[in-house]
Parts: sequence; C-alpha cells; structure tokens
Amino acid sequence: MLNCTECESPVSVPADAVEGEIVACDVCSAELEVACLEPLELILAPELSEDWGE
Ligand SMILES: [Zn+2]
Repeated sequence: MLNCTECESPVSVPADAVEGEIVACDVCSAELEVACLEPLELILAPELSEDWGE
C-alpha cells in the first residue's frame, strides 16, 4: 500500500495498473501517477489543462 503524496493517506493501486496510470486519492482527490511499477512509486500527476488536445 502506498501513501498519497499530498495527504499521506493510503492509496490503493489497481493490481493491473501500468506506468503512467492515474490513480485518484479518495481523501484529497489528488491525482497520482504511477511513475514506476518495480518498485511501485506514485508521483503527483501534472495538472492537465482543458485546453489540451486542440
Ligand atoms: Zn490524498
């Protein structure tokens, strides 16, 4: 079990998670990105702008 980088609450990562997958913290709603699988590591996901994709 990993902890949220923002609020230190435990965050469950799906067993089938892949690198780059975004996992939301249930407590503070922070979006955490799976930075590495072995060992499992979470980083705070960069904020995405709604303007992207155009
Ligand atoms: Zn959190």
